[in-house]
Amino acid sequence: MNRENFDVIVVGCGIAGLSAAITAQQNGARVAILERAPIDERGGNTRYTESFWRMKSIDAVSDDFVERFAANAGGWPDPGIVRDAVRDREDQPAVLRALGVIDPNLIATIAEEAPKALKWLSEFGIKFDHLPLYFLNQSTTRMGPIGGGLALVEALGGYVDARPEDMTVFYETAARALIQDDRGAIVGVTTVGPDNTPVEFRGRNVVLASGGFQGNQEMLTHYVGPQAQFVRPVSRGGHYNRGEGVRMALSVGAAPCGDFGSFHAQPVDPRAIDIEPVVLNYSYGILVNDAGRRFTDEAPGMVDATYEEVARLIMAQRHGIAYAVFDAGLDDVENWPVTVRSRVPPIEAESLMELARAIGVDARDFLATVEAYNGACPTSDGFDPLHTDGLSTTGLEPRKSHWARPIARAPFRAWPIICSNCFTFGGVKIDERARVINAEGDAIPGLYAAGEVAGIYYRVYTGATSVMRGAVTGRLAGADAALRRNAPD
Ligand SMILES: Cc1cc2nc3c(=O)[nH]c(=O)nc-3n(C[C@H](O)[C@H](O)[C@H](O)COP(=O)(O)OP(=O)(O)OC[C@H]3O[C@@H](n4cnc5c(N)ncnc54)[C@H](O)[C@@H]3O)c2cc1C
Repeated sequence: MNRENFDVIVVGCGIAGLSAAITAQQNGARVAILERAPIDERGGNTRYTESFWRMKSIDAVSDDFVERFAANAGGWPDPGIVRDAVRDREDQPAVLRALGVIDPNLIATIAEEAPKALKWLSEFGIKFDHLPLYFLNQSTTRMGPIGGGLALVEALGGYVDARPEDMTVFYETAARALIQDDRGAIVGVTTVGPDNTPVEFRGRNVVLASGGFQGNQEMLTHYVGPQAQFVRPVSRGGHYNRGEGVRMALSVGAAPCGDFGSFHAQPVDPRAIDIEPVVLNYSYGILVNDAGRRFTDEAPGMVDATYEEVARLIMAQRHGIAYAVFDAGLDDVENWPVTVRSRVPPIEAESLMELARAIGVDARDFLATVEAYNGACPTSDGFDPLHTDGLSTTGLEPRKSHWARPIARAPFRAWPIICSNCFTFGGVKIDERARVINAEGDAIPGLYAAGEVAGIYYRVYTGATSVMRGAVTGRLAGADAALRRNAPD
């Protein structure tokens, strides 16, 4: 079956796809949206996020925005190549244009466009505010929409639903491959619908907004490694994102960008069915693996800036699991329950021996671990749960840098923690118009990428910037694609 004559075909209807589709429609384009999920599960990750934006006000991104992205840029890029990044794109050598590193021009564009995107979203009735999160204290500023990502999907989705003559959504339709003409321009998408029915969609522009590959175990094992078997998407939405967007773009020659071997990692309770069941109180206790041994500094800094690296280390443990262990002193931390989103109660015991048995770790090794830790804790006071208090262990490997207090008073509690995958970092390179760049540094005519498909993250995720990336790159793609629909070939 063939469906023809769309100006813009958008793959996916999370924040990136909806922003692209509506912006294209507002600029006069006729749009098709292809969505793998049924209507009541549309929206991928966006549907489940609280959707914080790294903003200090509705007019500006946080003060540390550019600095954090710069600190998290690619590995150790060749300075002889990246020094040309300060030049305009047209003056940059192709080797740089196609290089898999953070493009400072794109980050500057996201910073500049984020307040505009936020105001545009307000036109759909969405209100942003400084809302509470699961951190007791934060190292940056964040704002979020009231009602979270679901409010975004419902408001933008409702706008789409009300305009079927301009924007048609094809649910339960998964994009599989791009169609190119003989000059290399993208002219459509092949899809698979219900009952394995193939359907071909034709149109002059395609926006890939189908998320990352967190829902694809084969790709995760390929890129992240065998420990990925112990990792699962942090919410139901991630299971819909199976990497076709990234694969389709790579298969027509797109330049890869973003760290393919990594992803935004979050520590969660494996027993919980809650959305995003994070366990972020561990910095007030210790973490042991299933051999009963510590393996990391539980408190290298504020938890909002360090939990990702700790979660990755949990993934690296045998069986990809750890236990956060506390004594009665956890209750000295006012409001600690806000840091745990799992509603499954912790495992409790009146003695450490009993706790070791209950969590299934070797009791002798576990007791030796706690004894060594307790002996290395400072005797001085000054415990300050809201700030990095410098209460550090001495002579212990690995050390615990803050909030180190002995684990000695019953009752004892433990939460199991695994590493979950919020979204993958590996994607494709785009320019400031969200056009996909090929491996020779040139734009692929008619192809755009937005949201998670557009790779911008390396090392540590610059928190609260992914929904923003989706809205901004979606709007850039939609506007450019709408303009291009009437341009001569
Ligand atoms: C619990 C949770 C909390 C988060 N918290 C934050 C936060 O506070 N701040 C922040 O910035 N980010 C946060 N994130 C990350 C952020 O929500 C996502 O990265 C972002 O929403 C992704 O938007 P997207 O449009 O790129 O992808 P998605 O929203 O995932 O949308 C992708 C869509 O494409 C569809 N799709 C997939 N494959 C195909 C295909 N082949 N054909 C057709 N359709 C397809 C999917 O069904 C889905 O509807 C969080 C994520 C989660 C899950």
